[in-house]
Amino acid sequence: MSILILDEVSKVYEGKVAHLAVNQLSFEVEKGEFLAIMGPSGSGKTTLLNMISTIDTPTSGELFIDGTNPINLTKNDLALFRRRHLGFVFQDFNLLPALTVEENMILPLTLDGQPVETMKRKVAILAEQLDLTPILDKRPAEISGGQAQRTAIGRALIHEPSIILADEPTGNLDSKAARDVLELLTEVNKRRQTTIIMVTHDAIAASYCDRVLFIKDGQYFNEIYKDDRRQTFFQRILNLLSLLGGNVNDLSTIRLS
Ligand code: ADP
Ligand code: MG
Repeated sequence: MSILILDEVSKVYEGKVAHLAVNQLSFEVEKGEFLAIMGPSGSGKTTLLNMISTIDTPTSGELFIDGTNPINLTKNDLALFRRRHLGFVFQDFNLLPALTVEENMILPLTLDGQPVETMKRKVAILAEQLDLTPILDKRPAEISGGQAQRTAIGRALIHEPSIILADEPTGNLDSKAARDVLELLTEVNKRRQTTIIMVTHDAIAASYCDRVLFIKDGQYFNEIYKDDRRQTFFQRILNLLSLLGGNVNDLSTIRLS
């Protein structure tokens, strides 16, 4: 079953010169899939993610999330839909600095007006899974980048969304913290059947996914599915990136640990 369907979706940014950022893109995402989206800088990845996030609307074409086309919702219903169905993880964590780790995680529930006891219970369970229990009372300035991103993942998960949308979630992390976050996302994906759509330019990050979709100039370019070994999947991702042009540093000899 497809949890996300894009049918010939295009996005034009109007301006002095109109710019076609996403060009007739069609693809589907299965429930429980872990999908990476890759493409050169300026290829339309963030634009695409913003449309899936219901923050932005397509200029043409149709998009369905869990069977709903968000443009048919009123503003209030859309805000509710977004909170119930979607969780967001960003490159720069987007935590509120004045709130503790626990308060940041609880925030979406506070907005929903849930009873304090329910919130506390949910946070306690999630904090255990995310290895955040000892730092629940700390503020973002007092924790590491990896801990901050795990807090953000906790905030995204607290509502048990059907889809997590992540834009470069490991972009600001060192390689050890990045690996922890990717392993955590993989575990969430497997254990909770949460669909994850992750934009990344890191081939190692993409190699944790079930499928990588490549876009170029806002258009579908190619896609590949994982195989038994992450190392060979990683190599195939690098090969496609080199076909795509740009973005490939001197990674081709790196081995995954
Ligand atoms: P990516 O995330 O792959 O780097 P973006 O989706 O940010 O790409 O951008 C795709 C193209 O659309 C780029 O050429 C960018 O300059 C343009 N673009 C992005 N946002 C806007 C905007 N708000 N107004 C006009 N053009 C934009
Ligand atoms: Mg971007």
